[in-house]
Amino acid sequence: MFNRYCKFFSTNKKYVTQLLIDGKFVNSKSGKTFQTINPATLTPIANIQEADKEDVELAVQSSKEAFENGPWRRMSAGDRSRLMFKLTELMQKNADELAYLDSIDNGKPLTHARHIDVDLSIRTMQYYAGWPDKVHGQTIPVDGPFTVYTRHEPVGVCAQIIPWNFPLLMAVWKLGPVLAMGCTTILKPAEQTPLSALKMGELIMEAGFPKGVVNILPGFGPTAGRALAQHPLVDKVAFTGSTEIGLEIMRSSHVNGLKRVTLELGGKSPNIILDDADLDLAVKLHNDAIFFNNGQCCSAGSRAYVHEKIYDKFIEKAKEAALKRKVGDPLLPDTDQGALVDTDQLNKFKHYIEKGKSEGAKVEIGGNVINRTGHFVEPTIFSNVDDNMTIAREEIFGPVVSVLKFKTIDEVIKRANSSSYGLAAGIITQDINKALKISNALRSGTVWINCYNAFGVNTPFGGFKDSGIGRELGEYGLKNYTEVKTVVIKRPDDSFP
Ligand code: NAP
Ligand code: MG
Repeated sequence: MFNRYCKFFSTNKKYVTQLLIDGKFVNSKSGKTFQTINPATLTPIANIQEADKEDVELAVQSSKEAFENGPWRRMSAGDRSRLMFKLTELMQKNADELAYLDSIDNGKPLTHARHIDVDLSIRTMQYYAGWPDKVHGQTIPVDGPFTVYTRHEPVGVCAQIIPWNFPLLMAVWKLGPVLAMGCTTILKPAEQTPLSALKMGELIMEAGFPKGVVNILPGFGPTAGRALAQHPLVDKVAFTGSTEIGLEIMRSSHVNGLKRVTLELGGKSPNIILDDADLDLAVKLHNDAIFFNNGQCCSAGSRAYVHEKIYDKFIEKAKEAALKRKVGDPLLPDTDQGALVDTDQLNKFKHYIEKGKSEGAKVEIGGNVINRTGHFVEPTIFSNVDDNMTIAREEIFGPVVSVLKFKTIDEVIKRANSSSYGLAAGIITQDINKALKISNALRSGTVWINCYNAFGVNTPFGGFKDSGIGRELGEYGLKNYTEVKTVVIKRPDDSFP
């Protein structure tokens, strides 16, 4: 099935390449464009219009006008919901194309793009499409002759800045709650992967959303991204990416007044494997936890803490599992691991391999760039790692895992928590009491017990500590886009309370 499908797309070069501003696809004001490149073949895919400050200005004005005066704010919750369901249907109809765009832009296997990224994106939009008419305030029985209720109102004009690791999914995690709450937005996809977001723009217009509700600006972080994060008419910034840029966004967002900010940042997630774990299950979960999406996951289980009693056996089995991974052409149906997204990621991989070796860790398997066209690297396992080594502290964002040895539960809790990050964690054990003790003690936004990367559209996701502020997905995800208004009505004194 996929062979025919790839052939079809290899002759179809119709990409959306323009900025979406105020309901129209337009060229950038500066006339500048940039190339998006297929990291598996190193060939350019398309020239994309490059948004800069002037385009940001137009897009923000459009979102502001749509928020204050357009039909969007006056639309009933039911009608907003129907529009979102229409968009969900269009995503379903275009699912193969959306998957293909993410695969060629990002380098990830097409089968993963189709059955993980795109299916989850559709499910997320469908989930949020059900929300507009279920956002309820409260009535509050206060002292005195007053009737008090709250309204959950949209936060206003949003700037949403997203990364390249799950291009469509990150766009939809952002767009779903914005649309459900009746906000307007300017979305900036990552420079490496603009294609699926632009295609979404086409589908949003086809579904019939009013102009200005969603503007889409491909471009670069230091220009378009920064201008968005600093714009005085933007009420809220939502960002996913590195902690370094997250901190900069925090600073930018206070330059012109006070913006609401939510951040979904990096991680160095511990995956704790106790000595009673089913070893085959542990190896399978570990393998997926670190190598899924080429390790380019904020939640990657990049610190495997393995009990000393099973450490050697675990390493042997983990090596076998890593060796079985098929690294290669993302368009082939049996590929497990495609190409890293760009040369920056490739250089980062090389840098950390050298760091690991020079600081005394042992490469058990992998460690090399594969000698072929494209950014292909080997799944890599380091043993003999201690907590102070660079590879155990910094986010590598590649298929590289540090396997660390531990003795006691109290010790492993302390070591797992010693990171500045706190995004996710895994625990693999057959003892629920131990699992709960560890889980409650871990300072992280998600804990997966006997599973890993088990995401649900209605399960909140986000970080403790330097891994972020706020939660995405589920009802919690809506809170980021809500202002609570308290309405107090004075009653005649003799009325019932
Ligand atoms: P990044 O620099 O944080 O970029 C994420 C998004 O922010 C992109 O759209 C980027 O634009 C934009 N951006 C960059 N500088 C900005 C600024 N000054 N103001 C506003 N927006 C700005 O991430 P990256 O460079 O793509 O990747 C670097 C590292 O970040 C990775 O190796 C990984 O460690 C981490 N990362 C984490 C996640 C996550 O899910 N938590 C995702 C991706 C990356 P451009 O398109 O110009 O980059
Ligand atoms: Mg960048």
